[in-house]
Amino acid sequence: IPKEFMRALPVIKKIENAGFLAYFVGGSVRDALLGVEIHDVDIATSAYPEEIKQIFPKTIDVGIEHGTVLVLCEEENYEITTFRTEGTYQDYRRPDEVTFVRTLEEDLRRRDFTINALALEQTGELVDNFEGEKDLENRVIRAVGVPKERFHEDALRMMRAFRFASQLDFEIEKETLLAIEENVFLLEKISVERILAEFVKMMMSKHWKRGLRYFLETNAFLYVPALSESSREALEQFLTLEENSLQSEGQMWALLLFMLEKESDEVRRFLKKWKESNQVIKETSNILQGLRHRKNQEWSALTLYSLSEEEASFVEELLGFFSLPYDVAKSREMHKQLPIHSKADLAVTGADLLQLTEMRQGKWLGKLLDELEKNVLLGEIDNKKQELLNFSQKKLEFLS
Ligand code: ATP
Ligand code: MG
Repeated sequence: IPKEFMRALPVIKKIENAGFLAYFVGGSVRDALLGVEIHDVDIATSAYPEEIKQIFPKTIDVGIEHGTVLVLCEEENYEITTFRTEGTYQDYRRPDEVTFVRTLEEDLRRRDFTINALALEQTGELVDNFEGEKDLENRVIRAVGVPKERFHEDALRMMRAFRFASQLDFEIEKETLLAIEENVFLLEKISVERILAEFVKMMMSKHWKRGLRYFLETNAFLYVPALSESSREALEQFLTLEENSLQSEGQMWALLLFMLEKESDEVRRFLKKWKESNQVIKETSNILQGLRHRKNQEWSALTLYSLSEEEASFVEELLGFFSLPYDVAKSREMHKQLPIHSKADLAVTGADLLQLTEMRQGKWLGKLLDELEKNVLLGEIDNKKQELLNFSQKKLEFLS
């Protein structure tokens, strides 16, 4: 039993001592059997949320309507979810209502894929009702039960199949893949937020080409925001890039938008359709603009300055996807060496400049500061107060 489960054993024991059943379930069991790193240890139990809250002094209601309580125990957090089925499904989306059940078997049956429908008893014994262990060995993603029914219940599972293909470097089993091909249009019913989360995970996994290939071949891309038939060729080109790892959402989007040949002014509209945050949109725009420059030439001070050091390093890394030479350490160093990193670093302020002239504050002041900024970055003037004042004085004489 891996150490993450050993640490969590007291949690299981406490629930069992109170007279309920409790098992390790889901991704952590899968990852343990694969021998890869475990993120969160999820626990499934026959106890109802209210009963869990009576057993543990420190809990947080994270999704009590779905039967999930977060328990703080031994300085770790555990999501403890009551055995449940998902009752009736409407509109191909996850049901709003869940029904609690008292057996593990029923709970495992509602899970998406056989490799995710495994449970581990505290004794270390595996509960495997759907041959999940065999599928893990054969490295396949197979729907639990009848694939078509499972995708009709919740169409997001199709995106999840691609995501797990990327994360685990697994194949999607034939019947399951066929059901995806036939029902992929149902993705249209799924909320953008849920699609986004799976898409990002798919693209930011080590074997992203695998998921992306499925995403293309099944035509799933036609049913997600902002992509359409006209994106097909660009997505195919994407698959010819090096399979390096993407480090941030902004970096991922910038590469995608580069391949789609989106103009800078289209970035915002595109990512708003995906309901991306303003922060990610900003980062994406910066990286995309940096990539357009850097793909054809060395860094210039002005381009480097318009990015953060991290964004510049993301741009630099993206060159590797095109099999171009790159040097992240060097780009970081060049960024550090810029004479200034923002206007606030200039050795003069607006107030200093106002003292040079009778003129009142106006547009000229902003323009002059812009000019100082640019000249300092280009190395035309040193960022020293007197030099900046001399330069400004000359400009102002010229103006008046
Ligand atoms: P990760 O390592 O990315 O967290 P995970 O397998 O834990 O992977 P989660 O999205 O955290 O994935 O879901 C936890 C478990 O809940 C899954 O392993 C699966 O059993 C079940 N599950 C999650 N989403 C669905 C869904 N849409 N339909 C059916 N079962 C699901
Ligand atoms: Mg998880």
